[in-house]
Amino acid sequence: MNIILIGPPGAGKGTQAATLVKDRNMIQLSTGDMLRAARTSGTELGKMVAGVMDRGELVTDEIVIGLIEEQLTSSTESTGFIFDGFPRTLAQADALSNLLSKVDQKLDTVIQMTVDDEALVRRITGRFTCGVCGQGYHEDFKAPIIKGKCDNCGEVGAFKKRADDNEDALKTRLMAYYKDTSPLIGYYYAKQQLQQINGLNSIDEVGRDISEAISSI
Ligand code: AMP
Repeated sequence: MNIILIGPPGAGKGTQAATLVKDRNMIQLSTGDMLRAARTSGTELGKMVAGVMDRGELVTDEIVIGLIEEQLTSSTESTGFIFDGFPRTLAQADALSNLLSKVDQKLDTVIQMTVDDEALVRRITGRFTCGVCGQGYHEDFKAPIIKGKCDNCGEVGAFKKRADDNEDALKTRLMAYYKDTSPLIGYYYAKQQLQQINGLNSIDEVGRDISEAISSI
């Protein structure tokens, strides 16, 4: 079972992908996470994409397609892939379809998470993660039980925010979403692969809706 989670920045794709990994043993392929990892480890690629990412623009199709190709061809058997933040352009969607057929796989469904823009601003500007274990939090919806301490790994004072989680970069990211990524919704709808869920519901409700969408195929 291979699925795409599609939605604007802050729709909750990463949060829901993490649940699917835990509950269904799927593999999350997030190009955003891969690019951030490249930056943290100081690779040439990381240095090359840093400015583009911080401004909220898209990195080139060639780079992200290369990252996905590497993962698809090296991953061992799993119960499937969750594509999170990829594809973001029609060229990436075509490349994904080719890459999947190369490894004898196919795309099973595309789940669109809808959230209105006003909610996205608060979702994005309030979110942070533990720098040690990566656990995600939000100032309003998912605060740690003890302020400053990670519920998951117990680390104190290791919370961090993404450099592009600010209002300026978010404007650019939303523009990129509407201009380059939203045409994919029509594309997958026409291919009868699209399912829509309301991403404004609680994390648990959205999780249940995604489970239902997956079971319906
Ligand atoms: P994300 O974590 O998915 O919000 O991605 C963070 C940033 O990484 C984006 O704003 C882009 O600069 C870059 N990025 C991630 N995935 C892609 C992609 N599929 N195509 C182009 N740029 C991407």
